[in-house]
Amino acid sequence: MALTPEQTSEIEAARAKHATTRRATVPALEEMLFTAIPVLDHGFIRVIDYMGDDAAVVQAARVSYGRGTRKTSEDEGLIRYLMRHWHSTPFEMCEIKYHVKLPIFVARQWIRHRTANVNEYSARYSIMDKDYYVPEPAQMAAQSADNRQGRGAVLDGETAARVLSLLREDAEQTYGHYEEMLDENGIGLARELARMNLTLNTYTQWYWKTDLHNLFHFLRLRADAHAQYEIRVYAEAMLETVKAWVPLSYGAFCDYRLGAVTFSAKMMEVLRKMLAGETVEQAGSGLSKREWAEMLDALGR
Ligand SMILES: Cc1cc2nc3c(=O)[nH]c(=O)nc-3n(C[C@H](O)[C@H](O)[C@H](O)COP(=O)(O)OP(=O)(O)OC[C@H]3O[C@@H](n4cnc5c(N)ncnc54)[C@H](O)[C@@H]3O)c2cc1C
Repeated sequence: MALTPEQTSEIEAARAKHATTRRATVPALEEMLFTAIPVLDHGFIRVIDYMGDDAAVVQAARVSYGRGTRKTSEDEGLIRYLMRHWHSTPFEMCEIKYHVKLPIFVARQWIRHRTANVNEYSARYSIMDKDYYVPEPAQMAAQSADNRQGRGAVLDGETAARVLSLLREDAEQTYGHYEEMLDENGIGLARELARMNLTLNTYTQWYWKTDLHNLFHFLRLRADAHAQYEIRVYAEAMLETVKAWVPLSYGAFCDYRLGAVTFSAKMMEVLRKMLAGETVEQAGSGLSKREWAEMLDALGR
């Protein structure tokens, strides 16, 4: 992660400031505030601000006047009930704002999550840093044979080294051309045009703000094993911040969303038969081969 000394001292200055407030704060998240948590080779996430805590979810659900005097176990029970029954609006009462540094190809997946507020670094106004993502050798995998959207076996050392060298060469070459086109004493091309040939592994940055309900939706999709590794590692880092921020909601989310599976009506029919000791085969079950395999996988069979 390439933070300049100026950026590091800005973060330290922000962390050194203290404010008094009547609003609820969460000590564990305060501890993380502004700090850059490294992700990939040059990326990070930082929590910039937040509003609300587990009690705010409970307060909103009860539409109460104060924070109440109920026990933590009662609050936890209510939060788990809300999560279990898809009663989502109380979770929208909490908000969080991140500063994220991420490769452009990851940003393209991330931006599809429309229920957030985003402000990205302007490459029309500013010059892009020379930071580009190069995967770890363990991530250099071949195209999966059975999943068109996935990776298969890790490439052998020599092949992986060739790919790494292609990635580096291309990024270096296009960044060199970018600088040449920008050169005020040479071509002097506008920044908004010169950026167009930068490689998709170039890092961009944005501020990304969302509420807890939509953050959980994002995390359910992107912390999932089906998500591409390069976005999943961001989601995993964010999960740690959510755990610190709203531990009760996080626990309910892990239980009822992240670690949960959905069975279709037909799958339930099959399950009932299996539990009754009947032999059920894929053929005749009403499930496709893929659904059948997914169901057995979910059941650990
Ligand atoms: C593993 C994986 C593979 C993917 N593959 C592809 C792919 O190949 N191609 C591709 O294009 N995308 C792909 N996506 C992106 C995916 O289709 C969604 O666009 C993305 O996950 C954002 O989800 P979302 O729309 O639910 O989230 P958000 O945009 O945050 O929306 C949250 C919810 O709000 C509602 N909502 C928001 N905006 C609208 C609207 N305008 N109209 C109606 N309802 C709205 C919907 O209920 C939505 O679920 C993939 C995502 C994943 C996780």
